Amino acid sequence: MKKWAILLLSIVAIIAISHLLITSSEINIEPLASPKLAEIEDWEEMTLSQSEISKGDLLLVNHEHPISELALPENVINLYDQNQFDLNFGLMNTDLWLPERMVLPFIEMIEEANSVGIHDFLMTSGFRGFASQEQLYEEKGSEFALPAGYSEHHLGLALDVGSKNGLMSEATEGKWLAKNAWKHGFILRYPEHKTDITGISYEPWHFRYVGLPHSAIMYEHDLVLEEYIEYVSGYQEGLLVTVNAKDYLILYYSLDTDEKQIHVPVNYPYEISGTNVEGIIVTIDLNV
Ligand SMILES: [Zn+2]
Repeated sequence: MKKWAILLLSIVAIIAISHLLITSSEINIEPLASPKLAEIEDWEEMTLSQSEISKGDLLLVNHEHPISELALPENVINLYDQNQFDLNFGLMNTDLWLPERMVLPFIEMIEEANSVGIHDFLMTSGFRGFASQEQLYEEKGSEFALPAGYSEHHLGLALDVGSKNGLMSEATEGKWLAKNAWKHGFILRYPEHKTDITGISYEPWHFRYVGLPHSAIMYEHDLVLEEYIEYVSGYQEGLLVTVNAKDYLILYYSLDTDEKQIHVPVNYPYEISGTNVEGIIVTIDLNV
């Protein structure tokens, strides 16, 4: 074999191996066999209120599980009528709303797309109140819309995003988001091959915020939210997750008993989310 051919093959091999290493080092998921409390020394017990159980980024809202009124978002802003944020995506109309805290994660995700030359995003829907969902349901019918109370859009965590260049299933914008949204805490909520589980037909435009590290695990294991909650509930001792060199501990508590007590660490930041299916997920950020 000629020298240049060997050199070329070596380069290809090196690229392939390093690509494999990069891909596998991005996400590492390790179910904990030992008691979940072992790694962190100081814990405190916490009794949750109904309101705390009803909120969070991991709430499941679908045909069978309507949203609790306690889960409705706070500080919802109109995106058209604000000057707080410099939006890097188009707005389909003036009636687009999001909770204030959701705007930046979305902008940051689009910023990454922009950096690789993908620009033509168009937001078509965000937070929807019960009245506008009811109107949509009446206009579109049960095949294309959910009745009021059963849509993820009520949570303020779901966004419909289109492309100025055509269908999201074909446009670069849609393809990029489907592949990269997880890095920013978002997931493609209704994939084509999971319609039997979600009960919703393929929606390449509908993205849901669940936050990291959850979006990474869902992407890595190809799980929709229905499956993911089930998956986490199977690891009662906890899941240790590393995403892009950051470590998280995920704990699951079942709430099918009357006890609403959980353990939270004293010295680490954490987030609590209800699941809307008799569970609580505590996400502990170990990077302090
Ligand atoms: Zn949607």
